[in-house]
Amino acid sequence: MRRSREIRLAARPMGLPDRQAFATACVDLPCPAPGEVQIRNRWLSIDPAIRGRMFAAKSYIPPFEVGDVITGPAIGEIVESNDPSFIIGDMVLSDAGWREYANLPASDVEKLPSMDLPPQAFLGIAGITGLTSYAGLMRVAELKYGDVVFVSAASGAVGSTACLIAKMLGHKVIASAGGPEKTAFLRDELGVDVAIDYHAESNMRKALAIAAPEGIDVYFDNVGGPFLEAAIGCANDHARFAICGMIAGYNLTEPMAAPRNMTLIPVKRIGMKGFILFDHLDLMPAYREKLAEWHGEGRLTWRETVIEGLDNAPQAFVDLFSGGNIGKMLVHLP
Ligand code: NDP
Repeated sequence: MRRSREIRLAARPMGLPDRQAFATACVDLPCPAPGEVQIRNRWLSIDPAIRGRMFAAKSYIPPFEVGDVITGPAIGEIVESNDPSFIIGDMVLSDAGWREYANLPASDVEKLPSMDLPPQAFLGIAGITGLTSYAGLMRVAELKYGDVVFVSAASGAVGSTACLIAKMLGHKVIASAGGPEKTAFLRDELGVDVAIDYHAESNMRKALAIAAPEGIDVYFDNVGGPFLEAAIGCANDHARFAICGMIAGYNLTEPMAAPRNMTLIPVKRIGMKGFILFDHLDLMPAYREKLAEWHGEGRLTWRETVIEGLDNAPQAFVDLFSGGNIGKMLVHLP
């Protein structure tokens, strides 16, 4: 028997969630049953998508019920194995979520690939976060030679990888994020051409038009609302928009006010496609191959915001909505 603490959904929040939406519980885990492994979590992925699962509504992934553990990507270590495919000490990726220990079927657990990267990178740039950026640019937006690319929430996990990939492929990249520390990261570490601090701009449309006088061809949307409106306003004919997320709307209790210029979509023949990474998992081998090549060339760069301790996972999650992270938001369990 092993005692394990876990974070559960305590109540469905209205608007911006706070820590009261979560509760900590203790459970006693038995030894893993045949075909199961026991994992001790080391790194938890903190994702805006959790917000969507706090609503009761049906979506691309089932909602949490009140009382459920907050499940989601996590990296951990096998501490007990009742399955021949894993031994104690194996580092694995699972969907165990916000808990210290979990017993899971071995079939739901994946050994970390043998790439020379720290384990938590497989929640970020080398995991489904990075794949989201790659799939959004390459398959959804069909990035092509000479495209001018605009990325919003660009200093976050998905946005920063999208900027990096687009820059490594030789594109002009305009990136927006909140605050001077984030724009410095975008310019100095990722090499974007123009970084817009939207906190300092009263008019995103104007700021984007100045950054891209030639117009934009691809928009990687993480935010929606006024950012999508600005992108529509500055789009060239036949621009392609990969709609990855709309974080500006996740906590609204009223419908989003923007974009107000949707009539420009047919006028400019803008192709706008929403996507969910789960439809693009087949790209993972190609993405990891490319990543290994870029890593070998010393071109990979990424940031993480690491918060210590399971008890701080709810706050780390809430902080995503006020820009509390640069790069991937992670919780580390000692
Ligand atoms: P991030 O690391 O980007 O963290 C969220 C960031 O969003 C914050 O740091 C903040 O940065 C910005 N933000 C928060 N609220 C607002 C707001 N109201 N207006 C403008 N910016 C805001 O998270 P992820 O990289 O994990 O996710 C980015 C987006 O991608 C989200 O929309 C998410 O839902 C989506 N996503 C979609 C997937 C898919 O399969 N389609 C998969 C994974 C993520 P700042 O300080 O710059 O405001």
